[in-house]
Formats: sequence, C-alpha cells, structure tokens
Amino acid sequence: MNDASWQPDCNFGPRVMDSQRTIRRRVSVEGIGLHTGEPVRLTLSPAASDTGILFRAADGTLIPANTEHVVNSHFATTLGAFGVRVRTVEHLMAAAHGLGIDNLLVDVSGGELPAMDGSASGFVEMLEQAGRVSLAVPRQALAIDAAIRVEEGDRFIQVVPSDTFRISYTLDHDHPVIGLQVASVEITETAFVDELAPARTYGFLRDVGAMRRNGLARGGSLDNAVVVGKRSVLNDNLRFPDEFVRHKILDLVGDLFLLGRPLVGHVVARNAGHALNYRLLVAIQEATAAGRRRALRRTATELAPGAATGTLESAYPAIPRVAAL
Ligand SMILES: [Zn+2]
Repeated sequence: MNDASWQPDCNFGPRVMDSQRTIRRRVSVEGIGLHTGEPVRLTLSPAASDTGILFRAADGTLIPANTEHVVNSHFATTLGAFGVRVRTVEHLMAAAHGLGIDNLLVDVSGGELPAMDGSASGFVEMLEQAGRVSLAVPRQALAIDAAIRVEEGDRFIQVVPSDTFRISYTLDHDHPVIGLQVASVEITETAFVDELAPARTYGFLRDVGAMRRNGLARGGSLDNAVVVGKRSVLNDNLRFPDEFVRHKILDLVGDLFLLGRPLVGHVVARNAGHALNYRLLVAIQEATAAGRRRALRRTATELAPGAATGTLESAYPAIPRVAAL
C-alpha cells in the first residue's frame, strides 16, 4: 500500500486504491427467492463510475445499495425505496465486494433475489461470465483508523484499524451440529472465491414451520440451504467442516459493502447477524461523519487568519483563495 494514498487529516478518510470496476456485458439468471419462494429473474448490467450497486425493481423504482436504504435486517438484508422492497441482497453484495465490482445495475423482477444454491458462488459465476472492466475513476476505500464496536448481550462486532480487510469470526452455537467454529480470513479475491463464496446459508429444521408461517424460508430446500436436524445436517454433506462460520463471514462481506465502498480494517465478530451487521454500518457511518467534521474544523482553524490569536474570527473558516483561471 502506498503511504502517499493515506489522508492523515481525516479519520476514516478515503484511501485511494486502484480503479473502480464494472462488468463488461449484461448477464441474467432465473431462480426462486429463499424467503418468498417466488420465481424471479435477476439481470446484472454494466454501470458508470460512482453509481455503486443500484437495484431496479420491476416497476422501475431505483434502490441504491447503501445503509440509508436498509429497511429490514431480520433474517436477511432488505433494501427499499418508496415502499418498494428487494429482499436478501447480501450474497450478491458479497460477490460484488469480493470480486471488486464497484458499479452495477441490478434488475430484479420480483421482491427478492434468487436463492441460487444458498451461497454466493452462483453470483460469482455470473460476475465472472460478465467479465470486468476498469473505469477511469479511482476507487476510494474506507480505511478504519479507530476502533468501533457494537454489541448486544454476548454478541458483538468490532472493527479495528488494519492495512488489509480481514474478518475474524467466532460462531458459538449451542446446537451440537454447529458448536464452536472460529475462522479468520483476509478477504482477498482468491480467498473470497475459494474459501467463502461456496458456503451456504443454513437453517434449523425445528424452525422451518414457524418461519414459513411468518413468510420466511418459503423457497428454502436442501437445494439452497444447509438444513440442520437434531443430530446432523439433512443435506448429503457439508462443503467445509466449518461451513456455518464461513457463511457468517460471507454475510458480513455482503452487508459491509452497503457502506458503498470497500472497507480496510479488521472486523472481529461473535455471533452476529444481519441486524447487528446493520448497527455496525450505522456506527461506521456516524464515526466517518464525525471524523470528517473534525477534519473540517481542523482545516478551518488552520486556514482562519485569527487562529493564532484566538479571536472570534477564528471560529469561522476562511474562504480559501481560488486561483484565477
Ligand atoms: Zn447469508
């Protein structure tokens, strides 16, 4: 990492990395929503720099994938605008984050993304099939430079400064099939594609009835989820012995991309979920805004002519001189 890319005046300041990217060509897939059980067509199209990941519902409503548009984080991350909702965006968001795709137009014909096989591998395949294009605008990562923590009982997520993007996760579940699973992954593209993307979402057989009555998991099956029975999983096998904790990390990679740019920091989590992930996003954004205000105040003080004498004028930022064109 080039030291010159740091902006020391600004906490949580943007760090310029390489160029923004989008996909080369349009790709589509059809499937069913995990929770709604409804058929849905998903189309990914190239988008210009600084578009971010932009969802477009069947009626044309545009929903930017950012923290402000999270309308529900119960069991899945749901985005919404003007009363229109798109559910379960996190695995596509994870694939875009993992593959460094900053800009995408995402058309969804129904209210939920297709479940695919319950993992992010299908979305990775779509993005790889679409090809990638670098855009002539630099990507600005969000570098964490002071610890931020959110917690609820014994669950927590904290993010601390680091030169890379790493997630360390402890999943401590009292169900004997899951138990204690710990993993720490530096989220490079290769690690994401090989170690995280194939990890499937999971649910407990004992919860299926109640979830379906509440409009959840209606499209769920052994084809798109690991189903945990009393003493074993009902699927033929697991893709990794610790598939559960890997999926939790995958979800975090997806939810964190709702910050709108890649994160540089070490995320340490214990028994989190989409709701706590969302609280972390809000906390990071508040800290970023506070850091920006502090930097502006510092700059204002430095620029103010009365700063040295502490006069009233020093409270006001001087207007920087603009060079004549
Ligand atoms: Zn998930």
